[in-house]
Amino acid sequence: MKPRLVLVGLGHGQFEILEHLDRLRECYEVSYIGGREAIYTGAFPQVIAGEMASATTRLRRDIAPVAERLIALDPDARLVETDHGNIAYDILVLATGAKSRGIGTGLKPMTRNMLDEIVQSDAITIVGGGKAGVELAFACIRRKRHVTLYARDILPDLPHHVGRQTARRLVQSGVTLMLSSFQPGTKAEGLVLDATGVGPDDWWAAAGLADHDAFIETTADLRHRVYREIYITGDMAARLNGGVDAVRSGRHVARQLLGTSRPFKSRTSLNILLTTPGRALLTFGKLTWHGRLPYWLKRKIDRRHVERFN
Ligand SMILES: Cc1cc2nc3c(=O)[nH]c(=O)nc-3n(C[C@H](O)[C@H](O)[C@H](O)COP(=O)(O)OP(=O)(O)OC[C@H]3O[C@@H](n4cnc5c(N)ncnc54)[C@H](O)[C@@H]3O)c2cc1C
Repeated sequence: MKPRLVLVGLGHGQFEILEHLDRLRECYEVSYIGGREAIYTGAFPQVIAGEMASATTRLRRDIAPVAERLIALDPDARLVETDHGNIAYDILVLATGAKSRGIGTGLKPMTRNMLDEIVQSDAITIVGGGKAGVELAFACIRRKRHVTLYARDILPDLPHHVGRQTARRLVQSGVTLMLSSFQPGTKAEGLVLDATGVGPDDWWAAAGLADHDAFIETTADLRHRVYREIYITGDMAARLNGGVDAVRSGRHVARQLLGTSRPFKSRTSLNILLTTPGRALLTFGKLTWHGRLPYWLKRKIDRRHVERFN
């Protein structure tokens, strides 16, 4: 009998793993738990800005979910509790992402309904001045009446002058910049979006996969430190960082499952944020470049990704 491989969640890395479904089926009894579609976060600001029709990526047609949601996990018994009963596994791949911290409407997990709600709202208040909050503010101001961004700092991970220039561009574009934290009870205009980053989901600690309020620790090959038959991808893993790592972690796990593994190496990732019309900010570590070429590159990468998985 083949080992039972259970894949959970339609995170960015899972799409990479599902690309190898035919070969995986030769070695494993493969089951999938999760939804049939996901929003590609690299591209959804372009949908809000009216530059792309859709950021929806879809599950392959030749795999049917055995359940829609993981509810709990018993790693000692190797059982996943789902909305369709318990499912046993020999090897488990988790790609369910992390969740927003809880101010207003969380951006994670991102759904099509939430994206529609953002597109339809006239006024938006965004909390968080990191890359996600800044890109969202630039995207929203194209088609919204009012956009307010609450942030103590703008792009705090980048050199100071880049944050200052970006703050100027935001204000020139019409964004109301509040250089302060958003306090509970603050009177906000329109839909409040939480771009303050993500935190752990409650079930991780309940299952004994992580300490309370912590991300999941893995070995360098992305296996859980104690439960070696569990692979962790994307935002769930303490050692990974952002969407590019989520995709790379999926490729790495696919290779491990197929026996062609190489050690996972953390790399500095290239990020590109949409800014003013026709321009984007490319960042690679502390290096930055604002202009038309990053914009062109971003559109090419994002369109290719959405077409590949749609
Ligand atoms: C506004 C914004 C813009 C961003 N832009 C970029 C960018 O340009 N570049 C970049 O590198 N990163 C970007 N990020 C970060 C990026 O979105 C995340 O790092 C990435 O999505 C992590 O992928 P993941 O595979 O961990 O899971 P996710 O993409 O979060 O997907 C998790 C999936 O699992 C499903 N799921 C959740 N719980 C369960 C459950 N219990 N059972 C079954 N399924 C479940 C969810 O519905 C979802 O489909 C952005 C984030 C935000 C908020």
